[in-house]
Amino acid sequence: MKLTLVQFFFAYLTVFLAIIFISWFMYERRRNRAEHRARRIFICGCCGADIADPGRSLRLRCRSCGASQEKFTLKEK
Ligand SMILES: [Zn+2]
Repeated sequence: MKLTLVQFFFAYLTVFLAIIFISWFMYERRRNRAEHRARRIFICGCCGADIADPGRSLRLRCRSCGASQEKFTLKEK
């Protein structure tokens, strides 16, 4: 199979635009997730302390009274 210069140009352009589009899509998705995470606030049911950003930790623990994750309620700003 032999590509002409025009075919090669369009193939190159298609691949280039696909890479740009996929990168943009991934960036937007990551940004939306970070925004959503930043809006969450966990409130302790025992003492009322709040944790704005628990990070990536799976288990929450209250910094003031030490209550476990089951006592927390989730609030969105
Ligand atoms: Zn607490």
